[in-house]
Amino acid sequence: MFNNSINYVFRHSKIAFLTKHKKEVEVFPLIKNYLGTEIVLFDGYDTDELGTFTREKKRNQSQLETARLKAKKAIEISGYQIGIGSEGSFTTDPYMGIIPWNIEMIVLYDNKNKIEIVGTEQRPYKSLQKSITTKEELISLAEDIDFPKNNLILRPNNENDSIIKKDFLSLDDLFKEFDLLIKKSITGKVFVENDHRAHRSVSRMEAIRYATIDLIIKCHSFCPECNAPGFSVSRGEGSLPCKYCGEESETFKYIVYKCNKCSFEKRIERTDITNVDPQYCNYCNP
Ligand SMILES: [Zn+2]
Ligand SMILES: [Zn+2]
Repeated sequence: MFNNSINYVFRHSKIAFLTKHKKEVEVFPLIKNYLGTEIVLFDGYDTDELGTFTREKKRNQSQLETARLKAKKAIEISGYQIGIGSEGSFTTDPYMGIIPWNIEMIVLYDNKNKIEIVGTEQRPYKSLQKSITTKEELISLAEDIDFPKNNLILRPNNENDSIIKKDFLSLDDLFKEFDLLIKKSITGKVFVENDHRAHRSVSRMEAIRYATIDLIIKCHSFCPECNAPGFSVSRGEGSLPCKYCGEESETFKYIVYKCNKCSFEKRIERTDITNVDPQYCNYCNP
């Protein structure tokens, strides 16, 4: 799987993982098999204290800071040298800013060597936020997101109502609650939205799996200068020429690898493409 599959940095170490939403189902087998470590779950700490997706508790720090905080909390609780924490976010795509977008981050922190490695995954997801009045509408929404693999959250009246119903195991469950809420609702409406918690969203679980794979690949990439793991792409630089007119485009020419430990950088020329199509050229296609 890796060009450097002999990874002794993590082998036989113990990693603490902090979660209460069943993320270990995806994370454990990968970490255990591909890093050769023991990984132990700590679910005593309420990670919802750091923020929830349903506006009950606002997240005060960035996604990366939250994942890092969870990794460090795992170290603090377990007394282990290494901790892992993961955090998701839901926003819009970085290109046009219109497509609903899920970003997953998983942070591995080594407290003794002061090394931080971040695995990420980003992808579109099916966003759902709607006020409805009939069961037919609810059925259509449930089908649309492949319920109950991806779950729903219901509130009477509107998105800010303090009554929140979730954790439905079947369509019957969902209908029963909908009937109760519609009777309670002053506006005659029920607000429906995605349940983004990992254990209630198969789409998110898959994204967490890919973020974990990204983390593992980075754990197997070592800095040529200080030998620390986590040597990985930090940004693109330069610009490729247009295939037709030769002018510089906005597509980068180099990939810059960076070490998180000693800050050593290495610039490598892209080999996948050497120029860009005129349709992406500011001169040929302004
Ligand atoms: Zn280094
Ligand atoms: Zn051109």
